[in-house]
Amino acid sequence: MPVLVMKFGGTSVATLDRIRRAAKKVGVEVAKGYDVIVIVSAMSGKTNELVGWVNETSKFYDAREYDAVVSSGENVTAGLMALTLQEMDVPARSWQGWQVPLKTNSAHSQARIEEIPTDNINAKFAEGMKVAVVAGFQGVSPEGRITTLGRGGSDTTAVAFAAAFGAERCDIYTDVDGVYTTDPRVSNKARKLDKIAFEEMLELASLGAKVLQTRSVELAMRFGVRLRVVSSFEEQSDDAGTLVCAEEDIMENRPVSGIAFSREEAKMTLISVADRPGIAAAIFGPLAEGGINVDMIIQNIAEEGRTDMTFSCPVDQVARAEKALNDAKARGEINFHDLVADTDVAKVSAVGIGMRSQSGVAARMFKTLSDEGINIKVIATSEIKISVLIDRKYMELAVQALHDAFELDKV
Ligand code: ADP
Ligand code: ASP
Ligand code: MG
Repeated sequence: MPVLVMKFGGTSVATLDRIRRAAKKVGVEVAKGYDVIVIVSAMSGKTNELVGWVNETSKFYDAREYDAVVSSGENVTAGLMALTLQEMDVPARSWQGWQVPLKTNSAHSQARIEEIPTDNINAKFAEGMKVAVVAGFQGVSPEGRITTLGRGGSDTTAVAFAAAFGAERCDIYTDVDGVYTTDPRVSNKARKLDKIAFEEMLELASLGAKVLQTRSVELAMRFGVRLRVVSSFEEQSDDAGTLVCAEEDIMENRPVSGIAFSREEAKMTLISVADRPGIAAAIFGPLAEGGINVDMIIQNIAEEGRTDMTFSCPVDQVARAEKALNDAKARGEINFHDLVADTDVAKVSAVGIGMRSQSGVAARMFKTLSDEGINIKVIATSEIKISVLIDRKYMELAVQALHDAFELDKV
C-alpha cells in the first residue's frame, strides 16, 4: 500500500471537534487506499503551559526532566486521535516516540533524529491497521530517556517518517492554507505562494517563519520528500496549499520571495573586552557549551587594546548567556567591564534566491527602513538573505514596509 504522512499542528487538534474534523480528513485518504501515518502536535497552548510550569519550578532546569514534561502534550492527542478514528471504524492505534522507537541523540530539548525503524509499524499495517497515529516532537535517547526535538518539532517528526517509510507525500495541516510571502497575521497584503524553493523555506524558517520547523525543511531537501503545507480548516484538492520543492521547479525570478521576522530576540554587548587573539573563542566557546544559539555577531573597532563585542540570541536564553559569560569571567578566561542585554529587539529578514543574481537588494532594504525612521542596530547577510536587528516596537511596521518595497503582494 502507498503510505501518506499527515501532520496536524496544535490549532488543528485544539478541541475534540477539531480532532474529529482532522480524523475525517484521514478517513478520506484511507478510503483512497493509503496506509496513513498521522503525526499529531499537542493541543494548542498545551506545550506553552508545560514549558511555563517547568520554568516556574526550576530556573536552570535539568533538560531531561524538561523533555519528560513537555513531551506529554502530544501523548494525549495521539490517544484521542486513535480513539476518534476507531469510532469511525478506521483501524488505528497510537504510538509514543519510544514505542516506534524514534531514536534521537542525547541533545535534550533540541534532539536530532538518528533512526526510525519501520518494522513495528509496518507489521501492524500488514495485520490490517490503517492508521498509525504517532506523537510528534518526541523520541528516545541512547540512554533510554525521553527527548524532544525543539519547538515546532512535530513538523520534523512528520518529514522524518515520510523519508523512513518512503511516503508518497508529507502533508502539513495547519491554520493557514500555505506558505505566504510573510506571516499573514502581520500583513494583510501577504500573498500565498503555490511553490517555494527548499533553500528559501529553510532561510524563512530559520529566521522566524514558524510555519515549518527549520530541521523539517532540511530533511525534506536531503531525502527528496514531497512536502506540502495545507489548511486543516478548508476542503482542498491534491494540489492545494504550498509545495516546498527544488529551485528548478520555480519560474518566478524576483530578488526577494519573503519577509521573515523573529520577535523574541535579544542583543547582548560585552563592554570593554581585551582585543587579543583568541578572545572570540573565549567568549563564544562557553556560550556554545551553554547551549546558546548565537546568531549575529559584531566586534567593534578596538581602542587602546579594548573592544566591545555584540551578539544576538533568543531572548529566553539571556539568563543562560549571562551565566555562561559570568562563569567564564569568574574562571579568569575573559574579562569585561559590563554585560548589557537589550531585550527589546526583533530581527527582520528579507529572503530570496533571486538575490544571488540581482544587486541593490540590501540598499533598497536599508533605504526603506530609513524612510520609516527605523534605526538598524545589527546587520547580517548571506547569499540569499539580509537580516537586521531593530527595536521590537517597529517590527510590524518594518515587515509591512519591506513587503511593499519588494512588491510581494503583486503576482
Ligand atoms: P501548527 O500549530 O500547525 O504547527 P504554527 O503556529 O507552528 O502551526 O505555524 C503556523 C503559523 O505560522 C501561522 O498561523 C502563521 O501565523 C505563521 N507564519 C509565519 N510566517 C508565515 C508564512 N510566511 N506563511 C504562513 N504562515 C506563517
Ligand atoms: N507541541 C510542540 C510545540 O508546540 C511541537 C509542535 O507542535 O510541533 O512546540
Ligand atoms: Mg508548528
